[in-house]
Amino acid sequence: MNIGDNIAKFKTELGDQVTLVAISKTKPSADIQEAYDAGQRIFGENRPQEMQSKAEELPNDIQWHMVGHLQSNKVKYIAPFVSLIHSIDKLKLLKEVNKRAKQNERCIDVLLQIHIAKEESKFGMDEEEVKELLDSEGYEKLENVRVVGLMGMATFTDNESRIEKEFDYLKQLFDELKSSYFSQEDSFGTLSMGMSSDYKIALKAGSTMVRVGSSIFGARD
Ligand SMILES: *Cc1c(COP(=O)(O)O)cnc(C)c1O
Repeated sequence: MNIGDNIAKFKTELGDQVTLVAISKTKPSADIQEAYDAGQRIFGENRPQEMQSKAEELPNDIQWHMVGHLQSNKVKYIAPFVSLIHSIDKLKLLKEVNKRAKQNERCIDVLLQIHIAKEESKFGMDEEEVKELLDSEGYEKLENVRVVGLMGMATFTDNESRIEKEFDYLKQLFDELKSSYFSQEDSFGTLSMGMSSDYKIALKAGSTMVRVGSSIFGARD
């Protein structure tokens, strides 16, 4: 498995309209460096402390994305440098990100994670919860976070029509929220959906950002 070749292959396949997040969780920094040398600059991790230590030893111009379930008490580890958090699933977490962003004198971009899968185990808000968050007074007051889109994970299944339905639903919700809660000047434009096994289906459904791990770096233990 050549990491550099895999990066090149994905870049060609995705073109300039879709952003590739290389999911490097559990993989050593040497693997990330290999992808970096092939031109990749956006990497995703799911553990705050792991992301922090990798960020310290790898090049400065890497944009680090947080993709896993994030606990409020760990936001502090990534707040100084994280470029996008994909996994906001509660107002309480968003408030903590805002607080830590403010302490670091910056604004942090985030995606709201929507629960679209059948599995209970997956995180995220449903339609009602996300609207409640966007309507809340607490949300309105936040000045150091910017909601730039949505993220969702489809059911882990080989039933492609089920996956397609879930992604189509997320795209529909994205369009609806964009028109009812955001204006033209807002940067609400990112729809993060699709991983190694289902990114092709996600692209057809209108994904603007795919999160690919094992198809770039090989299987994880
Ligand atoms: C691990 C992970 C991925 C990448 O999964 P692959 O199947 O290895 O491509 C994408 N998104 C999230 C949220 C993840 O945790």
